[in-house]
Formats: sequence, C-alpha cells, structure tokens
Amino acid sequence: MQNLPLERKLDVLMSLAADDREGLPPRLRHTKDVGALRPLNIRNLRPRPGMRMSLLRILMTNACTFNCHYCPMRRDRAMPRTLLKPEELVRIFLGAHRRGWCQGLFVTTGIPGRPVHVMDQLIQALELLRERHRFGGYIHVKLVPGAELSQIERLTALASRVSLNFEAACGASLAQIAPDKSFPVTLDAFQQVRRLVLLERAEQAEGRPKDPLHPGGTAGMTMQFVVGATPDTDRTLLDTVAGLQAGGGVRHAHFSAFRPISDTPMENVLAAPALREHRLYQATYLMGGYGFSADEVVYEPGGNLPLAVDPKTAWALAHPERFPVEVSSASYEELVRVPGIGPVAARRLVTERGGAVLRGLADLRKLGAVTNRAGGFLTLRGRRLQTTRWTEQLGFWAPEDEVGAYHMVYQVSPGTFR
Ligand code: SF4
Repeated sequence: MQNLPLERKLDVLMSLAADDREGLPPRLRHTKDVGALRPLNIRNLRPRPGMRMSLLRILMTNACTFNCHYCPMRRDRAMPRTLLKPEELVRIFLGAHRRGWCQGLFVTTGIPGRPVHVMDQLIQALELLRERHRFGGYIHVKLVPGAELSQIERLTALASRVSLNFEAACGASLAQIAPDKSFPVTLDAFQQVRRLVLLERAEQAEGRPKDPLHPGGTAGMTMQFVVGATPDTDRTLLDTVAGLQAGGGVRHAHFSAFRPISDTPMENVLAAPALREHRLYQATYLMGGYGFSADEVVYEPGGNLPLAVDPKTAWALAHPERFPVEVSSASYEELVRVPGIGPVAARRLVTERGGAVLRGLADLRKLGAVTNRAGGFLTLRGRRLQTTRWTEQLGFWAPEDEVGAYHMVYQVSPGTFR
C-alpha cells in the first residue's frame, strides 16, 4: 500500500468518500474530468532542515460565488464543480493518515454561497478531527474572507496554522483583480488571528501546557500574494509583508507567480516569471533569517527585484564598501551577508575557525560555504580568495530575455491550491 503511485493513492482516498450502496455521490463524480481542480493531493514538505513531512492537501470545494479575475474557480467560468462534506473530508484524511501516506492536513476551499456557511463547514471538519477522532497532529487551514469573529476564534483554536489570501499588496490593487474581496476585511481577520496566536503563545510561555487538540494556531500564520497579476511592484509587496510580519505571529509569506487561466478576464495577460516568485522568497529569507531590514533590499528602478542575481548578491554589489570580508576575523553578522554564506555556514565559520586550519576555498567549503559564490567577496589573512566574482561571469545570461517569449494559457494555476 505504502508504495502505490500517487494517482492510485488518491483514487483509494476518493473512494472513502463513497456511500457504500451508491458509490460516489453525483457532486464528486467529476473530480477527474478534464479541467476539474482535483480535490486531493499529497505534498512532501521540508518544514525545516532535516525534517520531512507529508501533507494531504484537500480542496473542500472548487465551487465559488466570488469572481476573482485570475482564478480558475471563479463563478462565471464553466468547469466541473465538486464538493466534499466535512465527514467525507475527515474519512479521507484519516484513511490517508492510517495508511501512513501523510502526517498532516492542509484544507482550503472555494466559497460557494455565504462565507459564514463555508466557515461552519471548515469548523465542523476540524471539530470532528480534533474532538471526535482525537487527531493531535498538524492541521493548516485557510481562513475564508467574511468569517465572523466567533468563527475565527473557533477555527484558530483548532488549527495548528491559519493562513489568509491577501492576493494583492493594497486595496486598490485587489479591487482590480478580485472585485468581491476587500483588503480591509482580510486585514481585520488577519489581525484577529494574530491576536489569538500571540495570546496562546504568551499563555504557553507562562506555563500553560500545550493542548495538541487545540493548538491555537501557534505554528504561525501564513499569507499569500499573487505576483504579477496587478501593478504591485516587488517593493510594494515586500513592504506589505514586512508590515504584516512586524506585529508577530507570522511564519512566512507565500508568493504565486500569476498564470493566465483560460476563460477568465485575464486570459490574455502575460504570465509572471517563476523566477520573480523565487526572488521574492529569497528576499523574505533575507529579512527573516539574515538580519536584513526591508529598506536594505535592493530594487531595480521600476521597483522590482533584479532577476539576474539573487537579492543578497544584489545587495553585496550595491555595497562595495562592505567587501571584501576577512574570513579570519569577521563577525557572524558580516559573514552572513556574504553571497554563498548562509546562517549555518556563518555560525560554523565563527565557532570553528579558531581551531581549524583555513588555507583556502576548499577549507571554507567544508564548513558549508558555497565558495564559487563567496570567493570573490572574501579575503583570508589579507589575501583575496578569488579574483573574478561569479556575478561578473553572468553577462551572457539575462533571464529577462525569456520573459514573455511565448504565451501559455493554463486551465489551473499552482497557486490556487494554497
Ligand atoms: S480566489 Fe478564492 S474567492 Fe476568488 S474566485 Fe477563486 S476560490 Fe473564489
């Protein structure tokens, strides 16, 4: 069973939603039709170095009364619609969990009808898992915009992590792509969840034992943005992320490069480069684990991150006065800003250089530095470790050249299942 291919596993799991006498109910018979958004997926994650976790991702329904311009599930788009009821969702998840196919659950949903009704369905699913079946593992759930405060409180109490889709960096941009959504409403829900997460963490810090059945969202919130669907620049997006993170309770932001979906008002808009999404993630890592502040991030004149080099290298090239860094005496803070040296390598260099014989790049490599990147920014006992920086060899490659070279239209977008 463990070695079944993913498709077969998902078929087995969908069969758990079936009524014994009548098979799959009509609302679930189209899950494999062309153009349907499949309700199940299993993803392998690495939440932190050395740790692996499989999540069963469940889309409770792909039906929606909202009409977001970029979304394959929007109200006006013809597609096969499916709906899992809470007890079906629970049977499927527990079936996957008992077989060892996943350790945790991620639930997201469209919004057919009133948001408060959808929230009730989500809460019911989590209550069944936590309080009837005593599942104490990881549950990440997407909060629906328009939820009532009491629903936000209940959902957060039951979830390990709550996330919200902001989609855009401000209300004006959001209005262009999601006319039914309101930035202030999402922001208000975000602040409510944050308040609850911080309260729970504070009480646990004061000694209240953790309750795995009511984790209170303490794994930290996440938030999602669609990149390239609006005029929002990377600077605007990252400033918004930094502002949201400043109040605490947040784990990280997700970015989804916009993909044009067939039969939507944005079908003819060019896709955003996947590399832009990647650069945004890299910039948030700098602000999270490397000690960079939002105003240190280096942008191109238009306000976007450079695509040709990563954000740390862009910062290093913009600050020649900070380089070269001397390996034998530099502080952790100086080393971690060198391209090719991450927090782990910087820490090892600082703690181990006293007892190690460092002769050149090969020794730095053993301590975790990516020396073909770092070499041109370092000296060792006053001697340059590399004369040509790898960034100077990149002139032949301009990723921007590839952007917009052809126009692909998709039926689904990877970002819609987050
Ligand atoms: S983005 Fe969400 S709310 Fe908007 S149409 Fe898609 S599923 Fe509905």
